[in-house]
Amino acid sequence: MTARRIVVLGRQGAGKGTQCARLVEEFGIVHVSTGDMLRAAVAAGTELGKQAEAVMQAGELVGDELMLGIVSERLAQDDIMENGVLLDGYPRNAAQADSLEAILAEQGVELTAAINIDVPLEEVTQRMMARGREDDTPESIARRLELYEEQTAPLLEWFASRDKLVVVDGLGEEDEVFARVSGAL
Ligand code: ADP
Repeated sequence: MTARRIVVLGRQGAGKGTQCARLVEEFGIVHVSTGDMLRAAVAAGTELGKQAEAVMQAGELVGDELMLGIVSERLAQDDIMENGVLLDGYPRNAAQADSLEAILAEQGVELTAAINIDVPLEEVTQRMMARGREDDTPESIARRLELYEEQTAPLLEWFASRDKLVVVDGLGEEDEVFARVSGAL
């Protein structure tokens, strides 16, 4: 089977990280979370981390050029070429979606699907308040959700128009959601 290249979409707090971890176990696919990569860079104090830290704390988006560099480099690595990828946190806006399309075209590969783990706004807000990550301040949460609606949600239509969108109900027990997500794969 050729390596699958899957974009995982969903609001902050929809359970993308949890479901991706389980998909990694089940399918041996590689999970690439741009948020995790950026947090690791901040923790390590790299140049990238220094550039991203304040932006992340405020819940704003790191610049598209910077993100393109990180993502294109990561997607070219052997583990992904062999085992495929779950791309979590990218693309987040139209420019990034165009960039992703260009990266994949350059590699001569196709996007397999974009899976949207759908959880309503009221529910994710509560979940995030309970989660307590470093950048989960009320202001940052509100800003990230606002940016999601404004810039990321329109990508659902973008993927649908390319016949790539799969929507999965993200409400319910973790196992139930996992059954739906893995079924969609
Ligand atoms: P969440 O989904 O809760 O916003 P993430 O872990 O996906 O958390 O991202 C955390 C932060 O990292 C974002 O608020 C943003 O500042 C930055 N970030 C992650 N991915 C991207 C991206 N594709 N483009 C721009 N900024 C990003």
